[in-house]
Amino acid sequence: MLRLDADLAVRLTVRRAGEPDSSGRCVVYWMQRAQRATDNPALETAIAAANELGVPVVVFFGPMPSFPGANYRHFHFMMQGLADTAERLEARGIGLVLRRLDEGGLAAFCLEAHAALVVSDENPMREPERWRASLAGELRVPFWTVDSDVVVPSALLEREHYSARTIRPKLRAHLERFLVRAKDRRVRVSWHPPRGMKSLAPRVETLDQMPLDRSVQPAPGVAGGTTEGLRCLRKFLREGLPGYSARRNRPEVEGTSRLSAYLHFGQLGPRAVALAVSAAHAPGVDREAFLEELIVRRELSVNFVKFNPRYDRLQGCEAWALRTLAAHARDPREHHYSGRQLEDAVTHDPLWNAAQRQMVRTGWMHGYMRMYWAKKILEWTRSPEGAFEIAVRLNDRYQLDGRDCNGYAGVAWAVGGKHDRPWGPERPIFGLVRYMNAAGCSRKFDTKAYIRAM
Ligand code: FAD
Repeated sequence: MLRLDADLAVRLTVRRAGEPDSSGRCVVYWMQRAQRATDNPALETAIAAANELGVPVVVFFGPMPSFPGANYRHFHFMMQGLADTAERLEARGIGLVLRRLDEGGLAAFCLEAHAALVVSDENPMREPERWRASLAGELRVPFWTVDSDVVVPSALLEREHYSARTIRPKLRAHLERFLVRAKDRRVRVSWHPPRGMKSLAPRVETLDQMPLDRSVQPAPGVAGGTTEGLRCLRKFLREGLPGYSARRNRPEVEGTSRLSAYLHFGQLGPRAVALAVSAAHAPGVDREAFLEELIVRRELSVNFVKFNPRYDRLQGCEAWALRTLAAHARDPREHHYSGRQLEDAVTHDPLWNAAQRQMVRTGWMHGYMRMYWAKKILEWTRSPEGAFEIAVRLNDRYQLDGRDCNGYAGVAWAVGGKHDRPWGPERPIFGLVRYMNAAGCSRKFDTKAYIRAM
């Protein structure tokens, strides 16, 4: 049995048991979510195993053009990131092979490359979980997955947590152990691709050959990749972190990190970001406020998706919220809009329209506006179930960080009171689900400046 450090072993799930193939020629790392060459526990696990077996590591990446909700905007950002990651992997002596997953790529590749062992990262969402289960059935060598995109391994939380209040002490209790600098191991045997081994080039032009939904174009002025993500992080540490706790709820000013897309695509790992923020020269109150979002809120979302199979439907919300929303489902709506009207940002509310435009044009909506945006969809559509569905669809389609645990938890919070509590007085449509309105926004920030900017 291969020996692994305790900090990697605790993140590991064995999907297909057994001994690595002793005649194997490499360890294959099937990179899915953690699309980076550093601070990546799955990659480090692959390297540790490969070093012990005396073979190289090759990363397999399989883009899936038909991934639900994904379009050219997402793929463009992702491919920019892969180009960067390929260079960083090469500098470490690790190969990258890129083939379309829907063309049967992975199991065939493992045979072709003569894999001794296959390692992958984790993502609790339904579709990638299905792919992993299917691969486990096809492989003849062991298959391990490593929980790489959370600070605290999500299995240690054991069950679905009710709220930030209940998960916070559990996460905090593990931080001393897990919020530590990553060890990037030296690769003992470098990868040299066998003659004739096919791979697509990791560059944006490769997307021209793929049948992608091109109706959403790349976000202007935003570039994917670890290098670009680290640049944004450094800028945020200098200019955004001091004052973050006060500014983060002011959508009209640049107050937050805008790291969510880099975290979503795994181009940055949450541990490296958290360590950089912890060590930054900024007031403690700002560092704490940021770590609350990055660790507590983000890992609460991962916990929700991992343990709640109905994470992308209203039915995944608590019984009190379902009851109160059902009791008010037939309340008259003063304004009613179709999904199309919402998508086109043609409501009576300039603040909501501005938020929708920000998302469609830039691929990112400010966090405070996301709350208001989703709550108004509940108020202006026919049913809470339908509101949930529209909010998820638009969020996944336009946000660069969409199709993420945070998105499902965010919509569930806004529409279905998830991770929240009942709020009186009982109101039309919302019942006891927390309500927001434009007047409340105006008291918090300069809504006119935000509307003008969008
Ligand atoms: P910062 O304020 O700089 O926060 C740093 C990081 O902490 C973020 O990048 C994110 O990873 C995490 N974080 C911040 N706020 C939250 C939160 N409320 N819940 C969980 N994690 C958080 N986030 C996504 O990553 N993808 C989504 O699709 C998404 N959709 C949302 C939809 C709705 C309706 C709501 C209410 C929230 C949604 N969020 C989503 C959460 C949050 O709004 C964004 O993560 C944040 O605004 C991203 O901007 P930032 O990186 O500048 O955030």
